[in-house]
This record gives sequence, structure tokens and C-alpha cells, in this order.
Amino acid sequence: MKQLIIKCPACTKKHDYYQSKPWSPFCSERCQLIDLGAWASEEHRIKGESVSLSDTSSDKSPDDQLLQ
Ligand SMILES: [Zn+2]
Repeated sequence: MKQLIIKCPACTKKHDYYQSKPWSPFCSERCQLIDLGAWASEEHRIKGESVSLSDTSSDKSPDDQLLQ
């Protein structure tokens, strides 16, 4: 069985890369979300670049319904 022990970038805990595949290189979904949250915060802000995390503009805006 393959094994590759890596360190989680979020909590620095050592874990098996293949076992945590959906979230790799993180050890768990929790740590992945923590890192994504860190990205959104000022800590990891990329200079001169705007990052949109999620595009949920498919929904109708409430303003459209008010006009009808
Ligand atoms: Zn972790």
C-alpha cells in the first residue's frame, strides 16, 4: 500500500497524502476550509490582484421582482 507522509499546511500535522486525498495537501476538509478562509482574509492578500471567491450571480436579484 502506498504511503506518503506530508505535513498539513494548515495545522502542520503529519498525515498520509493518499488517505486525505480529497483535501490534500491538507489533512482534512476542516483544514482546507481554514486555509481558504485565510486566503479570503488579509493575511494572504495578493497585491494588485482581485480575487473573487464565489460567483453566485445566477440567482435573480430581489430588485427584479420588485419592478414587476
Ligand atoms: Zn490539518
